[in-house]
Amino acid sequence: MNHTVMTYYAAHKRFTISVLLILFFISFYDLHAREVERSLYGSISATEYLMGKFTPGKHELFTELGRMGIPTMGRTQYLRIETAEALKKMYQAFHQEHPNAPFWVQSSTRNFWDQKRIWENKWNGITKVEGSKLNQSIPNPAERAKKILEFSSMPGTSRHHWGSDLDFNKLFNSYYESGEGKILYEWLQKNAADYGFCQPYTAGRNGGYNEERWHWSYRPLSVRLLKAWNQNFLSGKAPLNGFAGWNVSKKFAHEYVNDINSECL
Ligand SMILES: [Zn+2]
Repeated sequence: MNHTVMTYYAAHKRFTISVLLILFFISFYDLHAREVERSLYGSISATEYLMGKFTPGKHELFTELGRMGIPTMGRTQYLRIETAEALKKMYQAFHQEHPNAPFWVQSSTRNFWDQKRIWENKWNGITKVEGSKLNQSIPNPAERAKKILEFSSMPGTSRHHWGSDLDFNKLFNSYYESGEGKILYEWLQKNAADYGFCQPYTAGRNGGYNEERWHWSYRPLSVRLLKAWNQNFLSGKAPLNGFAGWNVSKKFAHEYVNDINSECL
């Protein structure tokens, strides 16, 4: 074998090794990315998850709150396992300090179709808003959407889809100004962050939903999902439609999802 042929074989070997190494790193990276996706969405797609198009009771990353010993009201309530575990610790700490004060989950994970029902009942005047049937009192669709958006998300944009967010006892702010509501709210303001929870819709923000003292979010999960929601939405992978008034409402989605208390970012 002459010198030129030997150099050729050496170069060929080096090239083959480099290609194999690159392929190895690509597949490792891909595997890692899939693992991260799976930890966030389980066996469904990112878009299905972020749009709330799944049944929490059938999703492997969710758990039923009653089974974990967390007090609930109304229908069977589900949250992501990590949210429920943190909430249980928070409930136990609150209960120890205030054994007679009520603490229950009024609403937790709601999917796209739950949110569609809430939204459309307000849109069509079935649920009155501040005593009015909005389909009669606000005929202009964009103005009607803004009125509903004071307190309700359009389907596909609710943090309640994510399994990280929940509503406590009563869904009106004045409940938290005195008595048992005040005990709970002041305790949450002081201690919830120790358990990973924050209040996304505080008073005094520039836009987005109104203040909601009852709505709290498990930050370690919701921060990741907020980022993913934005990527998914801005890439156009998940067009907002399939509910009454979607064509005039979707332009508000980005603002309402993102205008939250900076402690939840
Ligand atoms: Zn809520």
